[in-house]
Amino acid sequence: MNARRRELHRTLGGLGFTRDASTIIGIRYTGSLSVAGKSIHVGIVFDDLEFARLPRLQLLKPREDAPQLLAHIQADGEYCYANRDRHLVDRYKIPSAVATSLEMMRSSLERSQTSHAAAEIVAEFPQHWFGSTVFLDLESNSSRRAILYRLIRHDGSYSDLIADSERLLSFLTPKRPTSEEPIEIVRCKWPLAFQTNQNRPQTFADFLDWLGSIDGGVATEALSRAQNSYPRKPLLLVVAPNGAVGIRLEFVPAWWKAITRPQALAHYVDKKRSDLRVTRFTGEPIDPTFIYTRNLTMSGNLVGKRIALVGCGTIGSHLAKMLAQSGGGHGENGRLTLFDQQKLRAGNIGRHLLGLPDVGRAKAIAVSDTLSKTYPEIDTSGFDTDILQRLSKLDDYDLVIDATGDEGVTNAINTHFVELRMVGATCPPTIFVWLFGNGAAAQALCTTSLSDACYRCLRPDHGGPWRFSPLKSDYSAEEVPAQCGEGPFFPYGVAAPVTAAALALQLALDWAKGNASPKLRTQLIAVDMTRQVHDKDPQKSARCPACGAEHSLGQ
Ligand SMILES: [Zn+2]
Repeated sequence: MNARRRELHRTLGGLGFTRDASTIIGIRYTGSLSVAGKSIHVGIVFDDLEFARLPRLQLLKPREDAPQLLAHIQADGEYCYANRDRHLVDRYKIPSAVATSLEMMRSSLERSQTSHAAAEIVAEFPQHWFGSTVFLDLESNSSRRAILYRLIRHDGSYSDLIADSERLLSFLTPKRPTSEEPIEIVRCKWPLAFQTNQNRPQTFADFLDWLGSIDGGVATEALSRAQNSYPRKPLLLVVAPNGAVGIRLEFVPAWWKAITRPQALAHYVDKKRSDLRVTRFTGEPIDPTFIYTRNLTMSGNLVGKRIALVGCGTIGSHLAKMLAQSGGGHGENGRLTLFDQQKLRAGNIGRHLLGLPDVGRAKAIAVSDTLSKTYPEIDTSGFDTDILQRLSKLDDYDLVIDATGDEGVTNAINTHFVELRMVGATCPPTIFVWLFGNGAAAQALCTTSLSDACYRCLRPDHGGPWRFSPLKSDYSAEEVPAQCGEGPFFPYGVAAPVTAAALALQLALDWAKGNASPKLRTQLIAVDMTRQVHDKDPQKSARCPACGAEHSLGQ
């Protein structure tokens, strides 16, 4: 017994717990916790003495102590009182780590007595179903039947998918499904829940009782749909506002053989419902709506926006992916169009989204292809034409992003929109994003109207100083000289373009939420070469040759 184990023993002994030496997995103690004046019999299992994860909690007499939790206890009696991986306790202070763990157990059990806890369980009902995971893609919110596919993935493993269309099949695997079984869908308008004293269904009778306790009509429908499944073995999925769970009726082979007519199945599932065991499965949504709104409810998203991204190089390629992840190219009218004339070269790979399989391909087209293979239902296209010859193509978008990092192109796009705004034409907001020096810092600017500083306002004199440069005055960029067929470039690593892309994405999300301010944003990457430039809405420059006073005089 080492020192840590002795200290654990002393601590738990002091709290009235005794060591259970009969287990070989982990270190187990038994005792009781006082919850709302009631004594609950528990086992506490420490997987290790590092406290990297919280100890497990087992309820020893759940039926007597906590009938309301029956449905939430796993086969071994374990009760999930917290996300064990998330709540860290201090491994260096065993007594307080134990005290904290026990208090979390106690307060979780106490909460379980209240309606608030019931609401928590309802909110996460599918995970309390303890079923095997089945991916779920229901395109229609009224479909009554779908297909349960068994898919072989790239690595040879299996995944199950319930879907009412084939739209996601090719995303998940290039191979045909190994099996396809129809599954009946019953829709329940009430949230799924477990009542006190209710256990997770083991038989078809349990299932019908459970469903009947939520909605009698839906339970009746489930029974009749199972009865009418002949000549297939019944599979049922219950879709409710708080998730979808399902069952497979497990027939003894000899019994199934004896069922030769529809009436026989109907009779069988009705009369033998108590003997008919079920296996449970839990739907895990993977439909596009879920994917693109899951993480974006608070931060805004780009669903339904028409976005043009000019430049699919180091910044633009990563930005294209981030835009797609944020809903770009999705929803009604949503579109994500990419422009870049260049082809991918091997030298780009260390910093680009794309890899070796796309070397030699046009960057815009290859990035667009990658997004189409990765994100279902995205509307994206790539063009390797020269955008400078047709800048008016950009006018119809909701948002134009220039990620070329090429001052010539950037100035041309900037001038195009400034001139449109000067004649009162409506034109899309523009986001420019670029890197300073060897990727020492990233900067992004959003211009939405003529009263905003334009890109050229930031550096009114060609080749002159930047008004908001994050580079220290003695900074000198190290440029790798041009080789044949390849322009000069700055040897920064992938951190720089990804940082720049993230800066531009956040600006785009803020614009989509209705406020792009502060419109000039700076992120330092190489701290020793740079100084902080505060994010701001920069003033226009009177000397700006694109939009400033001198420009007006020159008219
Ligand atoms: Zn300007």
